[in-house]
Amino acid sequence: MNITASKLYNYLQCEHKIWRDIYGPQDEKSKETNPFVQMLWDKGVAHEENIVEGLGMVLDLKEGEETERIQKTIEAMKMGVPLIYQGVLRFGDLLGIPDLLQSNGDGTYLPIDIKSGMGVEGVDEDFEGEDKYKKHYAVQLALYSEVLIANGFANKHIGKIVDINSEETVYDLDKPMGVKNPQSWWQYYLDIKGKAVSLMNNEFQNKPAYSGKCKLCPWYASCKKWIKQNDDPTMIFYVGRAVRDVLQNDLDIKSYQELIDVDVDQVLEQKKKDKNFLKGIGQTKLEQSIKRARIMKENIEPKIYSPLAFPKTSYDLFFDIEDDPTQAFVYLHGVYERSPSGERFVSFVAEEKTDESEKEAWLNFWDYIRSLPKDDFTVYYYSHHEKTTYHRMSQKYPGVVSDEELEWFFSPEKSIDLYSVILKNTDWPLMSYSLKEIAQYLKFSWRDKSPSGAASIEWFNKYLETKNLDDMKRILIYNEDDCKATMVIKDYLDEK
Ligand code: SF4
Repeated sequence: MNITASKLYNYLQCEHKIWRDIYGPQDEKSKETNPFVQMLWDKGVAHEENIVEGLGMVLDLKEGEETERIQKTIEAMKMGVPLIYQGVLRFGDLLGIPDLLQSNGDGTYLPIDIKSGMGVEGVDEDFEGEDKYKKHYAVQLALYSEVLIANGFANKHIGKIVDINSEETVYDLDKPMGVKNPQSWWQYYLDIKGKAVSLMNNEFQNKPAYSGKCKLCPWYASCKKWIKQNDDPTMIFYVGRAVRDVLQNDLDIKSYQELIDVDVDQVLEQKKKDKNFLKGIGQTKLEQSIKRARIMKENIEPKIYSPLAFPKTSYDLFFDIEDDPTQAFVYLHGVYERSPSGERFVSFVAEEKTDESEKEAWLNFWDYIRSLPKDDFTVYYYSHHEKTTYHRMSQKYPGVVSDEELEWFFSPEKSIDLYSVILKNTDWPLMSYSLKEIAQYLKFSWRDKSPSGAASIEWFNKYLETKNLDDMKRILIYNEDDCKATMVIKDYLDEK
């Protein structure tokens, strides 16, 4: 069985998928690619082709049978061809197709991948100003590097990423992963590869675990069915794979109902004696998970632990933005406004994928905010995404809104993040506390048949290509419903 870079990538996305892809119930796997995933894929390919076009003389080995491409890649490297596009590398079960192989001029080659994201995670505090590598990029480059070394075309564990902004980052895989983690990236790769291989060979099996990533996965319906049939503890909000596995190993808990009977005092006593017992699960986490398990089992009304008092103002603004994080672009600012004169939806749209258009929509949003009675409105939104994005935009477009005004707008007196209110003060008999899950639980329904933030991004990209107004209308309806859903949640919490 081939061990490929994309299999290692999949393993890092979800430890179970690599096993399920081979041994799972194949008839339950969705045959349709999620349109958002397809869009990301298409964009990635377009970006890659764009970069390669700009390089000029490249030996293109994209076409042909695998064995023929492997042969041609070896021959090209022996001849010292400066740049090879989509060459195929094999050694034993390892199979890699780096986007580019660049000659170092001494018979060795550097593997390069072109990515449509940023090349690094961000600045690593441990390494004073150094960038932190992305794990999934590092393991992919490591696989290419291993095959190159085995074939005699490299002598270092090294690779390069060209990112969305054409910035280049060299991944030196012999470097430690961090000051607190002296393991090298190479060692990390070997560990990941070992675990992935043991799952692929069925020497080790693992189970699905519910997470935010599942919705875009072709196994979503299948795994969700398994999770529900087995009352898996990952049904409990914020109990993920790691916590579930520790609970099972240390307390033999196999279903979320069994969590309810845990004797917390006894467990905490044991934790004091044995540092490795229930590692990573503290008292708060344990008690919170037990509480949620009980609510889930009894399927009782949501719990509101402390009385919630919302400001009484003439204007309530339920606010939500639509943006494409892959391009750091905000295309819609939507507000569902409720005031003594009634309710209305106001929206500010960037109709072109340009800085001018994005800036103008944002300026119009602020003009609208400034037209409201300054001390007589309250803003409600769901999750910190809006706040984080607006801070980023204020750097990108200085002069649209001052730091003071932005601080004032997101101050607790003016704006309320309902997700944070929900997290701190409530519990629900739900697997997720997302806007969609909670509003649907409260009987709100979206007019679109498949509403999601990912779908909205796909519609916007379609709109940019075709300028079909139906796509824009769909986005506006979806955003308005998100804003209304926020209102439904606020009203529910307010009445309780
Ligand atoms: S649905 Fe979730 S648990 Fe199942 S394979 Fe996909 S990501 Fe993993």
